[in-house]
Parts: sequence; C-alpha cells; structure tokens
Amino acid sequence: MPSLLFRMLTSVVRGVRSFGSYESTKNQVDTEEIAREAESLQSEREVKAAEWREECFQASIRRQIDLQNRKEAEERRLSELALIQQAANAATENSPDSGDIFYRSARWRSLRYEAFRRYGRRCSLCGRTPNDNGVVLHVDHIKPRSRNPELQWEIDNLQILCEDCNLGKGAKDSTRWR
Ligand SMILES: [Zn+2]
Repeated sequence: MPSLLFRMLTSVVRGVRSFGSYESTKNQVDTEEIAREAESLQSEREVKAAEWREECFQASIRRQIDLQNRKEAEERRLSELALIQQAANAATENSPDSGDIFYRSARWRSLRYEAFRRYGRRCSLCGRTPNDNGVVLHVDHIKPRSRNPELQWEIDNLQILCEDCNLGKGAKDSTRWR
C-alpha cells in the first residue's frame, strides 16, 4: 500500500512537473513567436520605408527631368523670339523711312504723351508755349537716337523743345535744357 501511495504521489509530482515544463516550453514558444512577429513587422516597416524613399527619389528625378525639359523649351522659345526680333530690327534698319517707323509707333506715341505730361507743354529752352506763342513743340532725345539707340525709350532722355530750338540744336548737341 505505501508503495502504491508512493507511486501515485510520484505520478502526481511527475504530472505537475511535466505540466510546468509544458508551460515553460509554451511560454518560450510564445516569446519566440512574438520576437519573430516583431522582427517581421520591423522588416516590413523597413521595406515600406525603403519603398517610400525610392518613390520620393523617383519623383524628384521626374521633377528634375520635367524642369530641365521646360527650361530647354523656354530657351528654344527665347532664341526663336530673338531671331524674330533680329529679323524685325534688320527690316526696320534697312527700311528707308526707319525714323518714321519709330516716330509712328504706338510705343513712341505713348512715351511722347508721357513726356508732355511729365515735363509740361512748354519749350525747355526758350519757355514759349503753343497756346501763348503758337510754337510747335517737339519731344527731343537729349542724347540723340543715332548715337545712343539704347536710350531711345528712356523718358529721362527726353525733353520738350519748340521746333525752332530743336532745329537749332543740331545732331551732336546733348545739352539737357530741363
Ligand atoms: Zn524753344
């Protein structure tokens, strides 16, 4: 009998022990599984981050190519415009009444109007006016267009002179009378 009791006890103890060992094995398995899951989650994140970086990189390359293309198109357009402008200038310069073209242009008329508005309807040299003295007023280039074509559109290079004063001035004079 005592041996039977002993065997029973032993088997209970074994059972408890083996349950304990099962539990600890199970815990270990769980821990490993969690670690594996965490690892796979981590690597998934890394893959996604790498994909994202790659996408950004590709997008920035596409943007650069796009910018480059637009820049080239713009340069082509500008050089075409420059050619057209050159041709137009050449045509104007070769024309026998190139002066007339300048003085007939809308741009000059508007600049001339602006000069009268700014400097008044009075000769800057003799002070006569169309209303009081019946003179004809000219908008004169202080530095002549023939010598300083780059200043032909500068309002600061303009002055109001009556016809007499302007004709008396001569082509080489660049006295500022205002
Ligand atoms: Zn005058």
